[in-house]
Amino acid sequence: DLGYDVSAIRKDFPILGDVVYLDNAATSFSPEPVIDAIIDFEHNYRANIGRGVHRLTQISSQKYWHAHEKVATFIGGESGITVFTKNTTEGINMVAGGISWNQGDRIVTTILEHHSNLLPWRALSKKGVFVDVIGLNSSYSPDLSELKKVICPQTKLVAVTYASNVLGVVTPVKEIAEICHENGVMLLVDGAQAVPHMPVNVTDISCDFFVFSGHKMLGPTGTGVLWMKEASIEPLFLGGGMVESVTGEGFTPESGYKKYEAGTPNISGGIALGVAADYLSGIGMDAVREYEETLTNRLIERLKKIPGVTVYSPGRPEDRIGVVSFNVEGFRPHGIAQELDENADIMVRSGYHCCQPLMEYLGLKEGTVRASIGLYNTMHEIDLLIASIEEIVG
Ligand code: PMP
Repeated sequence: DLGYDVSAIRKDFPILGDVVYLDNAATSFSPEPVIDAIIDFEHNYRANIGRGVHRLTQISSQKYWHAHEKVATFIGGESGITVFTKNTTEGINMVAGGISWNQGDRIVTTILEHHSNLLPWRALSKKGVFVDVIGLNSSYSPDLSELKKVICPQTKLVAVTYASNVLGVVTPVKEIAEICHENGVMLLVDGAQAVPHMPVNVTDISCDFFVFSGHKMLGPTGTGVLWMKEASIEPLFLGGGMVESVTGEGFTPESGYKKYEAGTPNISGGIALGVAADYLSGIGMDAVREYEETLTNRLIERLKKIPGVTVYSPGRPEDRIGVVSFNVEGFRPHGIAQELDENADIMVRSGYHCCQPLMEYLGLKEGTVRASIGLYNTMHEIDLLIASIEEIVG
């Protein structure tokens, strides 16, 4: 018994079937209820939100607001502020641009990070804010002794990924949060690769900011989330929809998430993201975690047995999600990915995965091939991938 009936779930994903999709870390597919929510908006009640009193705007506003509640509940963040963004990248930029920095402030991040959790921080150098980057231990996890050493009175924020989009490693965010609290430092967690694959509780982690992408958790593209413990930052975007009143001199912002959502948002996307959260809760994130772990274990075990294949994964199943990077001796990562597509209809990613500093750190000049598992993948698909690589290797 693998936690749930995957063949029943696959029926909800019309796009499955023609291809073996193992690029879920880049973006996931959406199930019918999510697609239906978008169509329902377009067919039946499309209207702007929070503006006017007519009946369509009331339906639209209500559903959009309710989607925030659903997403907040999904991540255990009811007591904080759940802001809809267009993706993880936007959320991180909103935090980088919204904190009031002082010259000399420092930020700590890790070598694991996606460019999105590095470049917005590095850009603060123009305000005199600098970034310290910590390395990894032998299990590919951030070296916490280095973190403790590098944190200093000038450190204002630690920004760390919850799960790596290259190595699949799950980082000890709770331990990192404790270190942050002891030092009076804020914590931002990049949950882009965690939220779709395991139970997440932001209150339990005790972070200040938590960002993720809706489009990687079965939601529409153009959706993401910035969760904040409190409204501690200035809104980066100003304009309509985020103000309670505007006078000749200034303005009073709205409270809650509205303060951070200026302009007309992706309304149907947000509503459909709420449906995606419901869909995942319906399956149960514990079941998703267990199911994907079984597939991941098999994939790693069998990959390691192929001559010439090197796998870059933490050893213990509890320390990793189903993101598996590897290389095949004598082949370029893009070559493998292309052959898998052309010969076997298998979609994997290849290259740097938006993590060039990590690739350099690991000495991987052309990056890796990356297979990333989603809740609708099957053991059969894993076996197909393995058989196809065996064939390429010859
Ligand atoms: N962080 C991590 C860990 C990611 O995997 C990704 C997406 N690959 C991002 C950030 C950026 O997400 P988005 O492109 O949705 O902004």
